[in-house]
Amino acid sequence: MTESDNHFVADHIQDLKPSGIRRFFDLASQMDNVISLGVGEPDFVTPWNVIEASYHSLEQGYTAYTANAGLFELREAVSNFLATEYHVSYRAEDQLLITVGASQAIDVAFRAILNPGEEVIVIEPSFVSYIPAIELAGGKPVVVEAEETFEFKVQKEQIEAAITPNTKAILLCSPNNPTGASLDEQDLRAIAGVVKEHDLVVVSDEIYADLLYDDVYTSFASIDGMIDRTILISGFSKSFAMTGWRLGYAAGPASIIKAMTKIHQYTIMCAPTMAQYGALEALKNGRVKVQEMKNSYRQRRNYVVKALNDMGLTCHLPGGAFYVFPSIKATGMTSEAFAEALLEDQRVAVVPGNVFGASGEGYIRCSYAASMKQLAEAMKRMREFMKKMNLVDES
Ligand code: PMP
Repeated sequence: MTESDNHFVADHIQDLKPSGIRRFFDLASQMDNVISLGVGEPDFVTPWNVIEASYHSLEQGYTAYTANAGLFELREAVSNFLATEYHVSYRAEDQLLITVGASQAIDVAFRAILNPGEEVIVIEPSFVSYIPAIELAGGKPVVVEAEETFEFKVQKEQIEAAITPNTKAILLCSPNNPTGASLDEQDLRAIAGVVKEHDLVVVSDEIYADLLYDDVYTSFASIDGMIDRTILISGFSKSFAMTGWRLGYAAGPASIIKAMTKIHQYTIMCAPTMAQYGALEALKNGRVKVQEMKNSYRQRRNYVVKALNDMGLTCHLPGGAFYVFPSIKATGMTSEAFAEALLEDQRVAVVPGNVFGASGEGYIRCSYAASMKQLAEAMKRMREFMKKMNLVDES
């Protein structure tokens, strides 16, 4: 009996597919001299003042559990941050929950709102955890495919067409992983109209909000009438370079946050205390560092987008996050075959677009959260690969 068909494992877990991203990292980790544009995490180390604050909290003996919903001071800091930066007002007392990364917030949000079989509209290409999270919560994901023609921005008509009497929620992620697409205020207003008309709730993953490069960020919850229909999810992993700290949060209507806190209290108790002290410092004094990192990502984005377009891997300029999603359709290869051949031939790891949903086929995701030196070398190798395949026009 193999591990995967052990009869002690529940059927619905047996059926859950492992993430397609992992396979590539396993392959890449067995090779030398690989440049990885695969992982979705900052190449920066967490700002030092954050590390120090966490360290200091341990020295002071703050090693016990915090309140289930998280340190009150941290909830207050998150509340102030959301009010100042995104013009949304949440009470620290009962409208915020500190979680183990945005990942746990997503999990708990779906478990709190879904009755068995209720549908959630998911826009693909999408972050790999969404569909499993909905399924594990007993819900049914309904996929809507964002198209390259619209720079991967979902159109409200597409959402409307996917609504059934069982639709409970829409899951939005802007700026988006893997496409980098960002919905502006007008896009969000159009979606809000549909949400209101059909009495839906929106789970809005805003983890990349601070990494929007050219425009002013609009939170879905700040659109008229949406604060009562939105579970805003964010965290510290991306903009503060704190992936390993595992800290995020959810903000929403008190009744929903209360339901989420119930699940959180029985399953997690509270987010790690020392990480919460670090996050508090990040919000109080870490904004300058975020700005510096953002400026650096912007420069890398511009460089990578130009280099890819020049070598025939066409891609639009993504508004935010740290991913580009170029088309590889001109090569005639599947995204998996392309990513595998690129890894074998040039030792550059990218993620095949199909792992983000069927509509990601024909694309690859490259993360530009790598040093300029690494990016330059990766672009050189990719250009070499495209040349070998006779796809670069050298004229
Ligand atoms: N949402 C999106 C869109 C992401 O890309 C990620 C991380 N890759 C997460 C959530 C999870 O973040 P965290 O580290 O806070 O759990």
